[in-house]
Amino acid sequence: MPAREQCGVVGVSLQSTGAAPYLFRGLRALQHRGQESAGIATSSHGTLYHRKGMGLVHEIFGQEILDTLRGPVGIGHVRYSTTGSSDLENAQPIVVKIRDQDGAIAHNGDLVNFEWIRRRLQAQGVELLGDADTEMMAQLIAFEYGRTRELDAAIRRAAAELVGGYAVVLLAGGRVYAFRDPLGIRPLVLGTVDGGAAVASESVALELMGGKATRDIAPGEVVVLDKGQVVKTSSIASPGARAHCMFEWVYFSRPDSIAEGRSVYEARYRLGERLAKESPAEADLVVPVPDSARPQALGFASVSGIPYAEGLIKNRFVERTFILPDQRRREFEVRVKLHPVPGLLRGKRVVLLDDSIVRGTTLREIVQMVRSAGASRVDVRVGCPPIRAPCYFGVDMKARRELVAHGREEAEVAQVIGADSVHYVSVAGLVEAIGLPAQDLCLGCLTGKYPVDVPEERHRFQKSLGEF
Ligand code: SF4
Repeated sequence: MPAREQCGVVGVSLQSTGAAPYLFRGLRALQHRGQESAGIATSSHGTLYHRKGMGLVHEIFGQEILDTLRGPVGIGHVRYSTTGSSDLENAQPIVVKIRDQDGAIAHNGDLVNFEWIRRRLQAQGVELLGDADTEMMAQLIAFEYGRTRELDAAIRRAAAELVGGYAVVLLAGGRVYAFRDPLGIRPLVLGTVDGGAAVASESVALELMGGKATRDIAPGEVVVLDKGQVVKTSSIASPGARAHCMFEWVYFSRPDSIAEGRSVYEARYRLGERLAKESPAEADLVVPVPDSARPQALGFASVSGIPYAEGLIKNRFVERTFILPDQRRREFEVRVKLHPVPGLLRGKRVVLLDDSIVRGTTLREIVQMVRSAGASRVDVRVGCPPIRAPCYFGVDMKARRELVAHGREEAEVAQVIGADSVHYVSVAGLVEAIGLPAQDLCLGCLTGKYPVDVPEERHRFQKSLGEF
């Protein structure tokens, strides 16, 4: 089983030396996408420098370590493992041999046809050391490079075989190659920084690197950065075919990011407005589950006229619950992470806004906490339709049985989490709030229809594998 992860990537190419501090700042901005491990690889005059470690970016990379990562070009990665194999060996970037030189590769996402490609490579005599998607991608690219002797052509040939959602940064020959799956399931943004060019999983990372996003890397596009410039772009995608992960707007991306030209904050606010219209509630207070549901709660309050209140306070020094891999740790840390404001909720009918419900374990604890604080009623409203099917493209929602909405109607979910009612925003409401056409979004975990062929799952009717 390949490692499954929801991660963040960054890459930078400068005209003069000093890529590491930029990568450090970019990774810190992407810390919410993975908190288990982080890594940076840079290159100077053909020599690769790299360092990775377990923990948060600032815990791994002190100034002394950053000073050892030389050169004007590099890539970085933050990782969240969902397999339990949260060890340093699986941290990225991983070092690879490409162009007869040391290079490095890092990626965000998951492949559906991992086993098929692994067997194909092994049949060609390629030795694979581990079972990670990342190594296999690197070996596939190296294999194709042996045929084409041109790296971006090798990437295009390799990408044409990879089925799934991925955003990749590759450091080789003093250049950064950044590419994205042919449907743009996982995000990747291109921009400028002082004296150079950069890519990152989210626009906010480019801004925190002191630069700005110029555009999203198109689905299937391969972008080459060299000496601080974008020197080449090419594509393997069919024009117009897209399936951006709706979960980026719902939960993953920071609210101050812009994805596919759509503000994440505004999408979340509109989700709250839409919920207030679709599923109104008689209540005294609208309370968000902090921090991720604040915009939704503000939107709900503005339409409903019910006062907004920060009834739950978050301890800012505890990591996000969903991206902590161990279930018992998750439950324990809800209590450490959130605390109700004394007196504020007593005797009140509370509408509790959450961004999404995956397993329901965290929300059950929170509903209990709101009741213990004296709320007379807790009505839950959710800014994402019921998640009823697994994700195969890099988000940790693996098995139907783990999903609280699988096989349950809203009233049954309310019973499980101990709320007086639960209502989710509709799929149409979600699509309208994001502001992109439904056929340009991946809604696989909501509808059970996926944008690429997944064994034993239904394929979304608009696209077939042959169109990639
Ligand atoms: S299945 Fe769901 S979480 Fe996975 S990529 Fe599609 S929309 Fe995102």
